[in-house]
Amino acid sequence: MRWQLEFASASVDRPLDILAIAAHPDDVEQTCGGTLIRMAEAGYRTGVLDLTAGDMGTRGTPERRVEESHEAGRRMKLAWRGNMYWPDARLENTTTARMTLAGEIRNLKPRVVILPYWTGRHPDHYRACEIGYEACFLAGLKKLDETTEPHRPQKILYSSLYANIAPSFVVDISAQFERRMEALFAYTSQYGAGSEGADLFPDRAEIEERLAAIARFYGNLAGVKYGEPFVIKETMRVDDIVALAPRSL
Ligand SMILES: [Zn+2]
Repeated sequence: MRWQLEFASASVDRPLDILAIAAHPDDVEQTCGGTLIRMAEAGYRTGVLDLTAGDMGTRGTPERRVEESHEAGRRMKLAWRGNMYWPDARLENTTTARMTLAGEIRNLKPRVVILPYWTGRHPDHYRACEIGYEACFLAGLKKLDETTEPHRPQKILYSSLYANIAPSFVVDISAQFERRMEALFAYTSQYGAGSEGADLFPDRAEIEERLAAIARFYGNLAGVKYGEPFVIKETMRVDDIVALAPRSL
């Protein structure tokens, strides 16, 4: 597997099947990382594009966080991970941002894009959602840029960090949950016991408990141990009503 990191604009040898776009390194490790691991194990090429390097974070440096995101990416079996290095906590949906991201989408050619849910506490999360959606649209316009091929993802999914959304569906990540947690703890500058400002932040046990509670909650809704919730804007079409899960009774 070719491992491409460092620069978001590095060209890829083969298109991705799935691309998660996130505001900060360590977001996907808390939202859809289990699904990414599961899909990689199913044979799909998965990737993550982080829009910022978390340079406003109290702990660590952008360089360190991007380095940690590479390690987390390996743990999630990603085929590709990139970072746009846009300013953390000040993401703006500008024409330049949308066009640049559209170029990345044309380059990576994902069939499915996962975006942060469209409302949230952190402005970067909902801005990343908006920029991501509009970039997916622009990427499909032939005349956007005559030198690159148009590409429009076939499906956009939304994933959330918070336990207050009604999911359109849940992915069973019971077999991937522990590894998703290990991917999150690759960010030792953020979650290491000795990291700066450790007294201001919840410790590892608290984070594990919190994320396990959220994954258990959604897993329980779907009749499995751990689950990750996704929202889609379209209605889901079903071909086989006999194979529907979970059980009703
Ligand atoms: Zn975030």
